Amino acid sequence: MLCLTCTEPTGSIVCEPCASQLRLPPDMVLGNGLLVVGGFVHEGPARRLVHSLKYRGVVAAAAPLAAAMVRRLPDSASMLVPVPRAWWRAMRYGVDPTAVLSAVVGRRSGLPVVQALAAPMWWRRHAGKRRVERAPVRFRQLSAVDAGAVLVDDVVTTGATVSAAARALEAAPTVVLAATLVPAAALASGSETVAATKTGSRLLRSL
Ligand SMILES: [Zn+2]
Repeated sequence: MLCLTCTEPTGSIVCEPCASQLRLPPDMVLGNGLLVVGGFVHEGPARRLVHSLKYRGVVAAAAPLAAAMVRRLPDSASMLVPVPRAWWRAMRYGVDPTAVLSAVVGRRSGLPVVQALAAPMWWRRHAGKRRVERAPVRFRQLSAVDAGAVLVDDVVTTGATVSAAARALEAAPTVVLAATLVPAAALASGSETVAATKTGSRLLRSL
Protein backbone atom coordinates (compact mmCIF):
# COMPACT_ATOMS: atom_id res chain seq x y z
CA MET A 1 0.00 0.00 0.00
CA LEU A 2 0.98 3.65 -0.38
CA CYS A 3 1.45 6.14 2.45
CA LEU A 4 -1.60 8.42 2.51
CA THR A 5 0.47 11.54 3.00
CA CYS A 6 3.60 11.07 0.83
CA THR A 7 2.46 8.20 -1.50
CA GLU A 8 5.67 6.20 -0.89
CA PRO A 9 5.13 2.42 -0.64
CA THR A 10 4.71 1.35 2.98
CA GLY A 11 3.11 -1.34 5.14
CA SER A 12 0.74 1.00 6.99
CA ILE A 13 -1.65 3.89 6.39
CA VAL A 14 1.08 6.43 7.16
CA CYS A 15 4.76 5.54 6.62
CA GLU A 16 7.29 5.71 9.44
CA PRO A 17 9.08 8.91 8.26
CA CYS A 18 5.72 10.73 7.98
CA ALA A 19 4.49 9.34 11.31
CA SER A 20 7.64 10.62 13.03
CA GLN A 21 6.65 14.17 11.99
CA LEU A 22 3.22 14.04 13.69
CA ARG A 23 3.17 16.15 16.85
CA LEU A 24 0.79 16.47 19.78
CA PRO A 25 -0.49 20.07 20.03
CA PRO A 26 -0.65 22.07 23.26
CA ASP A 27 -4.19 22.49 24.61
CA MET A 28 -5.85 25.81 23.81
CA VAL A 29 -8.28 27.74 26.03
CA LEU A 30 -10.39 30.27 24.13
CA GLY A 31 -11.48 33.63 25.54
CA ASN A 32 -14.91 32.21 26.36
CA GLY A 33 -13.38 29.38 28.43
CA LEU A 34 -13.85 26.68 25.79
CA LEU A 35 -11.04 24.09 26.03
CA VAL A 36 -9.76 22.87 22.65
CA VAL A 37 -7.73 19.64 22.53
CA GLY A 38 -6.35 18.27 19.28
CA GLY A 39 -4.97 15.05 17.87
CA PHE A 40 -2.07 16.64 16.01
CA VAL A 41 -0.51 20.02 15.25
CA HIS A 42 -1.92 21.20 11.87
CA GLU A 43 1.26 20.87 9.81
CA GLY A 44 3.04 18.48 7.43
CA PRO A 45 1.57 14.97 7.22
CA ALA A 46 -1.29 15.77 9.66
CA ARG A 47 -2.35 18.68 7.46
CA ARG A 48 -2.23 16.43 4.40
CA LEU A 49 -4.39 13.80 6.15
CA VAL A 50 -7.05 16.42 6.94
CA HIS A 51 -6.95 17.77 3.39
CA SER A 52 -7.29 14.27 1.92
CA LEU A 53 -10.41 13.74 4.01
CA LYS A 54 -11.92 17.20 3.47
CA TYR A 55 -11.18 17.92 -0.16
CA ARG A 56 -10.62 14.52 -1.75
CA GLY A 57 -13.10 12.46 0.25
CA VAL A 58 -10.40 9.94 1.32
CA VAL A 59 -12.28 8.39 4.25
CA ALA A 60 -9.27 6.18 5.17
CA ALA A 61 -7.47 9.34 6.28
CA ALA A 62 -9.90 9.55 9.22
CA ALA A 63 -8.41 6.45 10.92
CA PRO A 64 -5.03 7.87 12.03
CA LEU A 65 -6.66 11.20 12.93
CA ALA A 66 -9.38 9.52 15.00
CA ALA A 67 -6.80 7.30 16.75
CA ALA A 68 -5.04 10.44 17.97
CA MET A 69 -8.33 12.13 18.90
CA VAL A 70 -9.55 9.25 21.08
CA ARG A 71 -6.47 9.70 23.25
CA ARG A 72 -7.43 13.32 23.93
CA LEU A 73 -11.02 12.66 25.03
CA PRO A 74 -11.71 13.90 28.57
CA ASP A 75 -12.99 11.36 31.13
CA SER A 76 -16.17 13.43 31.42
CA ALA A 77 -17.09 12.90 27.75
CA SER A 78 -20.62 11.50 27.37
CA MET A 79 -21.39 12.12 23.68
CA LEU A 80 -19.80 13.45 20.49
CA VAL A 81 -21.44 16.39 18.68
CA PRO A 82 -19.97 17.05 15.21
CA VAL A 83 -19.68 20.68 14.10
CA PRO A 84 -21.42 20.35 10.72
CA ARG A 85 -20.02 21.60 7.45
CA ALA A 86 -21.97 24.15 5.41
CA TRP A 87 -24.20 22.06 3.15
CA TRP A 88 -22.73 23.28 -0.13
CA ARG A 89 -19.27 22.12 0.96
CA ALA A 90 -20.55 18.68 1.86
CA MET A 91 -22.23 18.54 -1.56
CA ARG A 92 -19.18 19.75 -3.43
CA TYR A 93 -16.64 17.47 -1.76
CA GLY A 94 -18.96 14.52 -1.15
CA VAL A 95 -17.99 14.17 2.49
CA ASP A 96 -18.75 15.84 5.81
CA PRO A 97 -15.38 15.43 7.55
CA THR A 98 -16.59 16.02 11.10
CA ALA A 99 -19.35 13.42 10.66
CA VAL A 100 -16.77 10.87 9.45
CA LEU A 101 -14.30 11.69 12.24
CA SER A 102 -17.05 11.54 14.88
CA ALA A 103 -18.23 8.16 13.61
CA VAL A 104 -14.71 6.67 13.84
CA VAL A 105 -13.99 8.25 17.25
CA GLY A 106 -17.41 7.00 18.41
CA ARG A 107 -16.66 3.45 17.28
CA ARG A 108 -13.28 3.46 18.99
CA SER A 109 -14.43 5.08 22.23
CA GLY A 110 -17.95 3.66 22.53
CA LEU A 111 -19.41 7.17 22.83
CA PRO A 112 -22.65 7.97 20.98
CA VAL A 113 -22.59 10.52 18.13
CA VAL A 114 -25.43 13.05 18.35
CA GLN A 115 -26.14 15.30 15.36
CA ALA A 116 -27.33 18.13 17.58
CA LEU A 117 -26.36 21.02 15.28
CA ALA A 118 -27.55 22.21 11.88
CA ALA A 119 -25.18 24.27 9.74
CA PRO A 120 -26.16 27.48 8.01
CA MET A 121 -26.44 27.33 4.23
CA TRP A 122 -23.09 28.99 3.69
CA TRP A 123 -20.31 30.70 5.55
CA ARG A 124 -16.81 31.88 4.82
CA ARG A 125 -14.70 29.82 7.12
CA HIS A 126 -11.24 31.27 6.61
CA ALA A 127 -11.61 34.89 5.70
CA GLY A 128 -8.00 35.80 6.43
CA LYS A 129 -6.84 38.26 9.04
CA ARG A 130 -9.64 40.79 8.76
CA ARG A 131 -11.71 38.86 11.24
CA VAL A 132 -13.83 41.83 12.27
CA GLU A 133 -15.51 41.75 8.88
CA ARG A 134 -16.71 38.19 9.31
CA ALA A 135 -20.33 37.60 10.18
CA PRO A 136 -20.72 35.12 13.04
CA VAL A 137 -21.74 31.61 12.00
CA ARG A 138 -25.32 30.81 12.98
CA PHE A 139 -25.80 27.16 13.88
CA ARG A 140 -29.17 25.83 14.98
CA GLN A 141 -29.78 23.34 17.78
CA LEU A 142 -31.57 20.19 16.58
CA SER A 143 -31.59 18.13 19.75
CA ALA A 144 -30.64 18.33 23.42
CA VAL A 145 -27.13 17.58 24.67
CA ASP A 146 -25.88 17.00 28.20
CA ALA A 147 -23.01 18.56 30.13
CA GLY A 148 -20.52 15.94 28.94
CA ALA A 149 -21.07 16.67 25.25
CA VAL A 150 -17.82 17.17 23.32
CA LEU A 151 -17.85 19.18 20.09
CA VAL A 152 -15.91 17.53 17.25
CA ASP A 153 -14.24 19.54 14.49
CA ASP A 154 -11.60 18.81 11.85
CA VAL A 155 -9.30 21.84 12.12
CA VAL A 156 -9.42 24.55 14.79
CA THR A 157 -7.55 27.77 14.08
CA THR A 158 -9.01 30.85 15.76
CA GLY A 159 -11.84 28.94 17.43
CA ALA A 160 -14.51 31.26 15.99
CA THR A 161 -16.53 28.45 14.40
CA VAL A 162 -16.45 26.13 17.42
CA SER A 163 -17.37 29.04 19.69
CA ALA A 164 -20.42 29.75 17.52
CA ALA A 165 -21.33 26.05 17.65
CA ALA A 166 -21.05 25.96 21.46
CA ARG A 167 -23.19 29.10 21.76
CA ALA A 168 -25.95 27.51 19.71
CA LEU A 169 -26.42 24.71 22.25
CA GLU A 170 -28.53 25.28 25.32
CA ALA A 171 -26.18 23.36 27.64
CA ALA A 172 -23.02 24.75 26.03
CA PRO A 173 -20.21 22.17 25.80
CA THR A 174 -16.92 23.08 27.47
CA VAL A 175 -14.59 20.86 25.43
CA VAL A 176 -13.80 20.75 21.70
CA LEU A 177 -11.99 17.78 20.19
CA ALA A 178 -10.20 18.66 16.94
CA ALA A 179 -8.37 16.35 14.53
CA THR A 180 -5.71 19.03 14.15
CA LEU A 181 -5.25 22.46 15.60
CA VAL A 182 -3.12 25.47 14.83
CA PRO A 183 -1.62 26.43 18.19
CA ALA A 184 -2.35 30.00 19.31
CA ALA A 185 1.38 30.69 19.51
CA ALA A 186 1.73 29.83 15.82
CA LEU A 187 -1.17 32.12 14.89
CA ALA A 188 0.35 34.98 16.85
CA SER A 189 3.87 34.62 15.49
CA GLY A 190 2.96 33.46 12.01
CA SER A 191 5.11 30.36 12.43
CA GLU A 192 4.31 26.88 13.60
CA THR A 193 7.32 26.54 15.89
CA VAL A 194 5.72 25.48 19.14
CA ALA A 195 6.56 23.12 21.94
CA ALA A 196 4.96 19.86 20.98
CA THR A 197 5.65 16.21 21.52
CA LYS A 198 6.41 13.68 18.83
CA THR A 199 3.77 11.03 19.15
CA GLY A 200 3.14 9.81 15.61
CA SER A 201 5.26 6.67 15.38
CA ARG A 202 4.08 5.29 18.70
CA LEU A 203 0.47 6.10 17.88
CA LEU A 204 0.43 4.55 14.43
CA ARG A 205 2.02 1.33 15.65
CA SER A 206 -1.10 0.94 17.80
CA LEU A 207 -3.51 1.21 14.84
ZN1 LIG B 1 4.73 8.95 4.11
